[in-house]
Amino acid sequence: MAGFVTTKVESLYIHVPFCAQKCAYCAFYSEPSGGDLINRYVAALIRELELVADDLKPKTIFFGGGTPSLLNLRQWEQILRTLQRLNLTGAEEFTVECNPATVSADKARLLRDFGVNRISMGVQSLDEALLDRLGRIHTRDMVFKSFDILRQAGFDNLNLDLMFAIPGQTMVIWRATLAEALALGSEHLSSYEVIYEDDTPLFAQLKAGEFDVDDDLACDMYEELIECAINAGFQQYEVANFARHKTINHQLSTINLPALACRHNVNYWRGGSFYGLGPSATGYVRGLRTKNWSNTQLYCEQLEKGKRAIESREELPPLRRAGETAAFGLRMNVGWEFEEFRGTTDFDLRQEWSREMEQLTARGWAAQDAQRFQLTSQGLRFADAAAELFLR
Ligand code: SF4
Repeated sequence: MAGFVTTKVESLYIHVPFCAQKCAYCAFYSEPSGGDLINRYVAALIRELELVADDLKPKTIFFGGGTPSLLNLRQWEQILRTLQRLNLTGAEEFTVECNPATVSADKARLLRDFGVNRISMGVQSLDEALLDRLGRIHTRDMVFKSFDILRQAGFDNLNLDLMFAIPGQTMVIWRATLAEALALGSEHLSSYEVIYEDDTPLFAQLKAGEFDVDDDLACDMYEELIECAINAGFQQYEVANFARHKTINHQLSTINLPALACRHNVNYWRGGSFYGLGPSATGYVRGLRTKNWSNTQLYCEQLEKGKRAIESREELPPLRRAGETAAFGLRMNVGWEFEEFRGTTDFDLRQEWSREMEQLTARGWAAQDAQRFQLTSQGLRFADAAAELFLR
């Protein structure tokens, strides 16, 4: 990839693999756990940070999970002090994912004091029955309370995560959730359709015929999402992501995006490098993809021996890497400028993928001019299928 070489990696993802209980739809690596294993994980994570710190100068940091907000004050302080000691602070965007049931004023203040400047809150729904159905541990009241706590602690960049096409969710319920969530006035909104992943209780219920999937309703809900978000002053910049504020020339890229777009995720979608630490985390550094063990015990054992806890390494062939970069980037409304794509991957979309681009354009899923190829609003609805055509 052009422009690799000596610069330090500017993006850091850290996976916190613990949840109070497992949600019915969730296939992320996390486990209900407490006490000793969490302390052991924190020590192992600190060791892992020490092993990679020399190659990092993070502009974006993202703690995801799992439920990062499940860590207690002492555990958070240990991690944040380590970031300071290793000169990893000062990120322009520093996000921590929070579950509304585990936000407290003390924790919010601690995070803020150590430079966390963005919180992503997993709301999913504001309907009590659906929260129950999803196995979420929080109530709707906790969402409103946590939002206030975070504002009072000084957070002025908050994301809310919502889900649609949940079994039992009607259009009336979805509209009500959207209206209430938008009225909170967050700076960012992410909203995903429910996915039925193997080995989840929700998938088992679907297989057992306990409910049907209604694709037409899911499409209508997605359209409703876009319309309501835009009416509330958001700009859509990716299939499932909306942000406020005027479009600016983004510092991490040459593309124009809303000022409060999630820079960390934008780096993924533009094919940038990032370190991924913690159990099950994937990283992508200068063309080498790594994946850590999805097993917290094993992760800790490896790091206690002073080794990275990497399960697999894969050096992607350049064309395959370029295909993946194309596919990710097309999830964004701006699509790809041909020159930007060439600068990022050393390949020309018009040479390698002209047939696929014509196919998508003929179907009404994409548009192309002399500078750029991008998905249309219809194409964005089917972005996964469209993007698949670019994989080699
Ligand atoms: S809180 Fe998030 S990571 Fe944990 S089980 Fe639920 S969806 Fe999965």
